[in-house]
Amino acid sequence: MNETASLRARAEIDLAALRANVRALRERAAGAQLMAVVKSDGYGHGAVPCARAAREAGATWLGTATPHEALALRSAGLDGRIMCWLWTPGGPWREAIEADVDVSVSGMWALREVVEAAGAAGRPARIQLKADTGLGRGGCQPADWPGLVTEALAAERAGRVRITGLWSHFACADEPGHPSIAAQLDVYRDMVAYAEKEGVEPEVRHMANSPATLTIPEAHFDLVRTGIAMYGISPAPELGTSADFGLRPAMTLAASVALVKGAPAGHGVSYGHHYTTSAETTLGLIPVGYADGVPRHASGRGPVLVGGRTRTVAGRVAMDQFVVDLEGDRPEPGAEAVLFGPGDRGEPTAQDWAEAAGTIAYEIVTRIGTRVPRVYVNGTADPTGGAQR
Ligand SMILES: *Cc1c(COP(=O)(O)O)cnc(C)c1O
Repeated sequence: MNETASLRARAEIDLAALRANVRALRERAAGAQLMAVVKSDGYGHGAVPCARAAREAGATWLGTATPHEALALRSAGLDGRIMCWLWTPGGPWREAIEADVDVSVSGMWALREVVEAAGAAGRPARIQLKADTGLGRGGCQPADWPGLVTEALAAERAGRVRITGLWSHFACADEPGHPSIAAQLDVYRDMVAYAEKEGVEPEVRHMANSPATLTIPEAHFDLVRTGIAMYGISPAPELGTSADFGLRPAMTLAASVALVKGAPAGHGVSYGHHYTTSAETTLGLIPVGYADGVPRHASGRGPVLVGGRTRTVAGRVAMDQFVVDLEGDRPEPGAEAVLFGPGDRGEPTAQDWAEAAGTIAYEIVTRIGTRVPRVYVNGTADPTGGAQR
């Protein structure tokens, strides 16, 4: 921590926590493989260090949304299975095929593009057919499934593709007992059965995200795709905290107090003067703002640990900074202000910020900006020569 103490702000990523979370999730889904979902720069934690840590803890697959994210993992030296699912016309199909990335196919346009790219690459593409079993977002509708399966099998016989997976995604996995869960499982089993009857021999069938991994054992199938839980955040805070699920948040967001000063009673604070000091007091300037991912919606509400006490954002969060009312305390400039962390030093959690901002903790960690350096702790010896510490 010493060498980073002078930083304006930092997001400290505890890779030991991440590894322990992966192991805990693997225990929950014993019998299934685990895909570490590292899309959106590892939910803001850094895709490459997190992917390496997850691999060390036994994740056999890595998952990303976009192909560019998947290709970046390959370029960083990550081997083994990588899958990506969010495609738009134009590819980069050929690059993905040449990088041995499994690609998701949700519809006919994608199948045609990947088959053509496989021809150009001179090798088969590994494709995973995605079923819309009820989410109503990506994936192939049941009515269109026979057509997609038929054409994919024809491409497989022609040596253009290998159908490696049949998969889907839940709408309400964080609400146990929601009728859509059983309904989606039924549709998924039917769609898999149809494809297998037609001759598809998938290596992996998968449906479970973090909440399904933790609460729907019958959804584990061959592989679970865990994102948020791997970073130690509860995917279903109404059901349990991170600790209740055996998880530990990996990210701590902290800043150095930039200024401490006295202010008289009745002093307006920050843009719009939405906060006014009620008595003579001290104010602390925290040098992070919405450009760093601190939600402006948490103005007047977000919690921060400064000098052993939890303070509340006073007035508006600005682009680069916000103010807390220190109520007469005078921590030294440079003192640590912890916005969120695992919670065991009394600091708030990302979930607390989510509640303050009216959102979910996924959004809190994912939106931390590039101006905040990620500092890795508890990395292990890294044979590929990465920048872990
Ligand atoms: C993001 C994502 C996941 C991971 O979801 P979590 O709830 O973070 O575990 C799994 N599958 C797909 C298709 C996703 O887009």
